[in-house]
Amino acid sequence: MPFRHKNLTLRTTAKNQILDITEEVRTCVREAGAESGVCTVYTPHATAAITINENADPNVGTDFLRALAMAVPEHEDWLHDRVDDNAAAHIKSALVGPSETIPIQDGKLALGTWQNVFFCEFDGPRSTRRVIVSVSS
Ligand code: ZN
Repeated sequence: MPFRHKNLTLRTTAKNQILDITEEVRTCVREAGAESGVCTVYTPHATAAITINENADPNVGTDFLRALAMAVPEHEDWLHDRVDDNAAAHIKSALVGPSETIPIQDGKLALGTWQNVFFCEFDGPRSTRRVIVSVSS
């Protein structure tokens, strides 16, 4: 039973940012050669997240970031801000979650027509962000 992990390295350029990583994940699935199985996309960071969302209108990502900013405002006297001033980023990361799991059918990610995979930055910009793509079949 093949089982593979591949590391993707990303660079972010803003405090809050959504990066479409669908093509990179598709490449991992292709390279793994799995006809049927599961793909997990995971980020090992406490101030970032992975989500699946609409791919057609980039404003969906902008609205998503705006909604999170409204739900979790910066500088709310969060206790953790006294440590390294990024409490809102940790809360957003926890709400969105560090991973997504996608079925692989006929060698392809079973994403819907309007779904893509996105890396979410909440404490950027960062020169190096890591995403681990695991394929099991
Ligand atoms: Zn922190």
